[in-house]
Amino acid sequence: MDSTLNKIDQDFPILDQEVNDEHLVYLDNAATAQRPNQVVNALTHFYQTDNANVHRGVHTLAERATADYEAARRKVQAFINAPEPEEVIFTKGCTDGLNLVASTYGEANIKAGDEIVISIMEHHSNLIPWQQLALKKHATLKYIHLTDDGELDMEEAARLITDKTKIVAVAHASNVMGTVNPVKQLAALAHQHGAVFVGDGAQSVPHMKVDVQDLDVDFYAFSGHKMMGPTGIGILYGKRELLEAMPPYQYGGEMIGFVHQFESTWAELPYKFEAGTQNIAGAVGLGAAVDYLNNIGMDRVQAHEKEIVNYLLPKLEALDGITVYGPQEPAKHTGVIAFNLENLHPHDVATALDMEGVAVRAGHHCAQPLMEYLGLTATARASFYLYNTLADADRLLEALQATKEFFNHGSRETK
Ligand code: PMP
Repeated sequence: MDSTLNKIDQDFPILDQEVNDEHLVYLDNAATAQRPNQVVNALTHFYQTDNANVHRGVHTLAERATADYEAARRKVQAFINAPEPEEVIFTKGCTDGLNLVASTYGEANIKAGDEIVISIMEHHSNLIPWQQLALKKHATLKYIHLTDDGELDMEEAARLITDKTKIVAVAHASNVMGTVNPVKQLAALAHQHGAVFVGDGAQSVPHMKVDVQDLDVDFYAFSGHKMMGPTGIGILYGKRELLEAMPPYQYGGEMIGFVHQFESTWAELPYKFEAGTQNIAGAVGLGAAVDYLNNIGMDRVQAHEKEIVNYLLPKLEALDGITVYGPQEPAKHTGVIAFNLENLHPHDVATALDMEGVAVRAGHHCAQPLMEYLGLTATARASFYLYNTLADADRLLEALQATKEFFNHGSRETK
């Protein structure tokens, strides 16, 4: 195990606490990650020294706040290797970015009879915007399904994506099964047929090196809070020529060129898509999260999580009465693992694990069509990040064992 990564504990005081008399093991990182002191300090520093509205004032604080905000944009640009800072738009989060594309690009380019292709493993955020767009425009929504191993069926993808397809929108990594999808291949398929590719990077950008130029994605959305940044800030990357041709998302201050009584013109990129006062401190905090990840290195972050999954997955699968969903091969997994224990509702499992100090999530994980497809209503989900350790994986295994014993014992007693 990468020992330097184990020394980062001190950056996350929230992890050093007891929950139900046990030391907390936080395994709900797919929902939101914890923030290191460096991010919290960046927020505090911004509010204590530089806070002002951006782009509007000529006074010193306004200039400093603007410089901080634009520096954060450039940090994100470099982090995902976007060609230009103007192609990096601050949003409220991944959901906001995907809605932006559906209601501007989609609104302008989809017409009756067109096809939109997504996958059955999409989070509702990358599903409902396309579903509603298709309904509104009388377009057809098509789903790529899964192989038996919980991976995208790429043969089906090749059949579904045709010259009728105008948009292909797929998650880079599943928030339920941890599957990593071949986004580069999907983007190439989309382009062969003249369609654009929209990537949902919510579960990939925090965990692996993402290069939007190498992937050749047209749009790519993700959230700050899953990569240790603040909540309420996210990014939409888009190729310049597409963004320039799109109508604005929202109207108001900052996004205009000139406003006349009966017509208006729009600001240059990226401001055309940043109407109103933005989450300036959030952007600064996200910049600090990017610095934090860069200091460690995304290759090391990914290797660390892989090591935990390599260790945990076979042990988990060996537990009596467990079903683990998604790829069985650790190499094909992010640090997100969904499972169920026989005869136990996942909410009971999560509650029992919480009694042991282990925080996991249970539910449909905002992926109800996937649950339906798998014949489930819910699963438990453990999701790991860079501050988790092999010892955390052991605590999960022990807590699952204790949960099984508790419920088996309990059911014997009530017979
Ligand atoms: N897509 C995926 C794959 C996700 O996991 C999530 C968050 N669970 C989202 C989109 C939406 O992210 P947010 O709620 O931060 O907008």
